Amino acid sequence: MSQQLDIDQIRAQYPILTRKIDGHDLIYLDNAATSQTPRCVVQTIEDMYYMHKANVHRGVHTISQEATDRVEATREKVRDYINAGSTQEVIFTRGTTEAINLVASTFGDMLYNGDEIIVTAMEHHSNIVPWQLIGRRKRVRLRVVPVSDRGECDLDAYEDLFTDSTRFVALAHVSNVLGTVNPVKEMIAIAHRHGVPVLIDGAQAMPHMRVDVKDLDCDFYAFSSHKMYGPTGVGVLYGKRHWLNTMAPYQGGGEMIGNVTFEHTTFADLPFKFEAGTPDYVDVAAFGAAIDYIKELGMENIAAHEHELLEEATRELLEIPGMRIFGTQSGKGAVISFLVGDISSYDMGLLLDKLGIAVRTGHHCAQPLMQRYGVQGMVRASFAVYNTLDEVHRFTAAVKRVAGMF
Ligand SMILES: *Cc1c(COP(=O)(O)O)cnc(C)c1O
Repeated sequence: MSQQLDIDQIRAQYPILTRKIDGHDLIYLDNAATSQTPRCVVQTIEDMYYMHKANVHRGVHTISQEATDRVEATREKVRDYINAGSTQEVIFTRGTTEAINLVASTFGDMLYNGDEIIVTAMEHHSNIVPWQLIGRRKRVRLRVVPVSDRGECDLDAYEDLFTDSTRFVALAHVSNVLGTVNPVKEMIAIAHRHGVPVLIDGAQAMPHMRVDVKDLDCDFYAFSSHKMYGPTGVGVLYGKRHWLNTMAPYQGGGEMIGNVTFEHTTFADLPFKFEAGTPDYVDVAAFGAAIDYIKELGMENIAAHEHELLEEATRELLEIPGMRIFGTQSGKGAVISFLVGDISSYDMGLLLDKLGIAVRTGHHCAQPLMQRYGVQGMVRASFAVYNTLDEVHRFTAAVKRVAGMF
């Protein structure tokens, strides 16, 4: 157990963790879908609504200036946290999905029939479908990096996929199903040797590891606040300035313009060119509090704690007859996807819920990956900083009990 963190004190910040489900203490193990939100973040939302609510970047009045300052303070916190070169490279979106759609749509405008995009077999649907939507307008083809039985990308196969037609690479930093941490720095370097830019889907990396976009040298990096103890409705697209300047705006409206006439409109400078309309400024401000919270706990401490939970859960689950764990990379992220015998993920999830345990079941927005493993769905337990070893023991005992019922 990490000596640095007082987990009881951390848990006290999450009222939901005192809930009971069917008379059992809630054990929340669906953190990879969304994490819970500590009081400090919710208090920031309340403070924004009660004391600082005014539209941003528009008014000269004091309250508008306060709201604007809080949004821009979060932008600087994000910039600093991911080590981006400039706040111009930090664009607020509704989430990872919108960030990827922004790039697919605007970068996609610059693609031609016959162009190719490389993705991996472990991508979330939100890093597959936006690229396919370009392909509906133009004949753009997805090339797919295969995944081994252990759940790792085959780097030789990856390099072999590059052709003269390769225009873009889009890949997950950490798999939401397998927990696999892809060697993205190396994969980005390979793409750059072929002159191809890379987008990293960082939705599962940001809650669990330090990310330095300058060190990775990625061209784009996308992530969501709600998976990192922050509010819903906010995400970030980091993009290298020269790409963002090259790309056309994504949506039109207020905030994103320079000068508008019916004949000709000019666009605002970065990052506002990509932020049409009133942003979710309340939640953006609160996302700043979530970043402060993570920094205060220390990402190294969070990761060490989650790693211990993962190791213990893995060890105990593997004692159950018929247990299959998908994704066995050493050093993987804090998710375990599994099946027991021929018990469907749905049945397992339903019965665990009766015992107060919240896990995810089904295809996890990664149907191609389910096909890769020849299954309909999986059960996934995923950990956050407020989970405890005691919860892990109760979870694995519950899986064992359910397995024994079939
Ligand atoms: C959750 C997730 C997404 C989508 O994030 P949203 O917040 O739903 O937009 C994309 N990729 C991965 C790997 C995810 O885990």
